[in-house]
Amino acid sequence: MERTLSIIKPDAVERNLSGAILAMIQEAGLTVKAMKMIQLSKKQAEGFYAVHKERPFFDSLTEFMCSGPVVVSILEGDDAIAKYRALMGATNPANAEEGTIRKKYALDIEKNSVHGSDAPETAAFETKYFFNDLEIVG
Ligand code: ATP
Ligand code: MG
Repeated sequence: MERTLSIIKPDAVERNLSGAILAMIQEAGLTVKAMKMIQLSKKQAEGFYAVHKERPFFDSLTEFMCSGPVVVSILEGDDAIAKYRALMGATNPANAEEGTIRKKYALDIEKNSVHGSDAPETAAFETKYFFNDLEIVG
């Protein structure tokens, strides 16, 4: 069993897509172990995306991520990190495969509706960034 951190981003929460995206997640066999809706501050968004701080899109990305509420969750399952990345689809929705969340719902390469951890180390950092042990079931 593996855990990964999911964020339903502001563009998707704003369009009332949280339920539809969570249904896709659960239909893919991933189990929700923790969940909450929050609005990040700019500082919190910058801390979360610190690995991208040298990228040209960093300021725009962190502004976007604190522009409205997000739904943060911990997903568990066999191979959960890779499984959720596959379900999300490519970063740029123009390159995302049919049946993926980003193909269906993303607006552009920045407002791409969902985030998922990309490795065990980032999953561990990201789940701790948002949840303490008492907030995780099981
Ligand atoms: P995420 O980390 O959000 O799951 P990802 O791993 O597919 O997405 P990253 O390369 O980690 O993509 O980029 C993080 C986020 O930064 C992207 O999801 C997207 O919102 C934004 N982003 C990435 N590349 C660009 C770009 N060229 N222009 C604008 N925003 C971008
Ligand atoms: Mg990433």
